[in-house]
Amino acid sequence: MTGFPDDRMERILLTEDQIAGAVSALGSRITADYAGRDPVLITVLKGGSFFLADLVRAVELPLTMDFMAISAYRPQAAGAVAITKDLADPIEGRDVLMVEDIIDTGLTLNYLLKVLRQRKPASLTVCTLLDKDVRRLVDLPIEYRGFSVPDRFLVGYGLDLDGLWRNVRYIATLKDEVWEGT
Ligand code: 5GP
Repeated sequence: MTGFPDDRMERILLTEDQIAGAVSALGSRITADYAGRDPVLITVLKGGSFFLADLVRAVELPLTMDFMAISAYRPQAAGAVAITKDLADPIEGRDVLMVEDIIDTGLTLNYLLKVLRQRKPASLTVCTLLDKDVRRLVDLPIEYRGFSVPDRFLVGYGLDLDGLWRNVRYIATLKDEVWEGT
C-alpha cells in the first residue's frame, strides 16, 4: 500500500522504509545499552503497540512486554489521565523502557513516568518514535528518539484520528481543514 487511502491526508511524512530504518537503529542501541539485562518494554495502548511490536523484534535481549491504557487524551487535564488498564506485573527492581509512538506536550508521559517511578524500578528510560518537540510543555528525559516531527497532526503506524488509520504503514500529515477540527 503506497497511495493515500484517503483524500484527507496531505502528504507522507515518513515512509515505511524510513520507519523501519529508525526502528532497526533504535533496536541496535537498546541491545547494546542493555546488554546483560532483561528489560521490560512498556507502552500505552493502542497507538504505541505498533511501534513496540516492531521494536522488540529489533532488540536481541531476553525482554518482556507490558501494556497500559489510559483515558482519552485531554490537554486541559494537565496530563493527569486515568489509567484504565494497569500493567499486568510489578516493575519493582526491573529495568523499564517506556515506549511511546509520539510525545507532544509531554504532559501524559510526564504523569505516567511519575506513576511508574513510585513503583521503584531499577531504571526507567524513554524511547519514542516521534518527538513533536516544538510543542513540549514539560522537560522530559528522552534517551531514544526516532524522529523529530513538525507541529502537524499525524496519522498512520499506530496514530489515529477517531480510531482510523492506525493500520496505515507510513506516517502522513492531514490537510489543515481536517486537523484544525481536532
Ligand atoms: P502529550 O501529553 O505528549 O501532549 O500527548 C501525547 C499523546 O497525544 C500521544 O500519545 C497521542 O495519543 C496524542 N497525539 C499527539 N500528537 C498526535 C498526532 O500528531 N497524531 C495523533 N494521532 N495523536 C497525537
